[in-house]
Amino acid sequence: TQATLADVKEREAQVDAFVTVTEKEALEKASAIDARGIDASKLTDGIPLAVKDNIVTKDILTTAASKMLHNWIPPYNATVVNKLDEAGMVIIGKANMDEFAMGGSGENSAIKPTKNAWNKVKVPGGSSSGSASAVASGQVRLSLGSDTGGSIRQPASYSGIVGMKPTYGRVSRFGLIAFASSLDQIGTFSQTVKESAELLQVISGVDDNDNTSSDIAVPDFTSKIGQDIKGMKIALPKEYLGEGIDGGVKKTIIDAAKHLESLGAIVEEVSLPHSKYGVAVYYIIAGSEASSNLQRFDGIRFGYRADNIKDLEDLYVRSRSEGFGDEVKRRIMLGSFSLSAGYYDAYFKKAGQVRTLIVEDFNKVFDNYDLILGPTAPTVAFGFGEKTQDPVSMYLADILTIPVNLAGLPGISIPAGFSDGMPVGMQLIGKRYDEETIYQVAAAFE
Ligand code: GLN
Repeated sequence: TQATLADVKEREAQVDAFVTVTEKEALEKASAIDARGIDASKLTDGIPLAVKDNIVTKDILTTAASKMLHNWIPPYNATVVNKLDEAGMVIIGKANMDEFAMGGSGENSAIKPTKNAWNKVKVPGGSSSGSASAVASGQVRLSLGSDTGGSIRQPASYSGIVGMKPTYGRVSRFGLIAFASSLDQIGTFSQTVKESAELLQVISGVDDNDNTSSDIAVPDFTSKIGQDIKGMKIALPKEYLGEGIDGGVKKTIIDAAKHLESLGAIVEEVSLPHSKYGVAVYYIIAGSEASSNLQRFDGIRFGYRADNIKDLEDLYVRSRSEGFGDEVKRRIMLGSFSLSAGYYDAYFKKAGQVRTLIVEDFNKVFDNYDLILGPTAPTVAFGFGEKTQDPVSMYLADILTIPVNLAGLPGISIPAGFSDGMPVGMQLIGKRYDEETIYQVAAAFE
């Protein structure tokens, strides 16, 4: 813990990955573990990590990188935080992010922009920007993030590390500040595939406090690591190497497919014909759910409250106008519009129907294949400010990750090579509750 805190301090000026460094609490926890003695049979005992700042931590500031929660000290822990604690893990700090997890570059943080660990003029990806850069810069070996449309896999791709979004329902969302409840899932960042599996092991499992968490048994996620992949059938969707995908990224993924073939896997082209509607469907569904989830930030019970208010309405309006950033307001407006009486059928209902078509596309492929392979993002990390004036161009960075959330599937991003001097991530998408096969194939690249 002391060595990790020293690494955090030494590198923080380069990456700005943390909202809060919990030095005192971390040292206390580490001393308590020392006093009782490390349990060497538990791989995670005494291991430090960072946690995204939208995962609530009892008595520790939790901001979701929003002015709205600038002073919020939660009275309870997220279920995953209790699980980390039971596993003997030590939280070193709370990682920066796009405000309320809305964004794809980290630039929407109300606190500061986190830098890419490879090149400080490039974005680290988002929304789990700090969780990614903390691992990529070597401040910590492990961190937790959340992924609603790509917020773990895309920053892992831009930062050259491993990022895992498990199956929807695998990990409890209790205590994850809700963005879009039918899509949100907590997952892991790590340097290696095996560590990803080990950390996911700690946080998985059913939870009485989250009725969307699944009681399907949690297997040993490392059980297939090292097993041979001969004869495994891997699908390469043609839409994932089509228009808008950078040449260097494409080449890296084709090389990765060849590597899998050299190990005896069968790689074939397939089609996910409705994936092109993913971004449109996502921004309607995620915005609608966000507009509802974010109603609780009313300036009354917790968080930011405007000064010198005239009446109740003024309190709501001014607290929300001043407390939320532009992107959050954009989502709330879009979502309220698509849910409103005159537009519900044309937008929200239609988006749900197209979501089903996207799910069916995946089901059809998984009737014949074990895994889907493709890039994680269409390009490598871009420069600060490049996409901030054009939200739609930012939204398109998630075109390859969003369909996976819409279908609730597990997906990992692992480093696959470099293009223009920046890391390229490769995405492996699995069947529902089949994280083990993802880890088996991902490990074949290490
Ligand atoms: N970039 C996407 C968005 O802005 C995804 C965010 C996420 O996965 N939390 O909504």
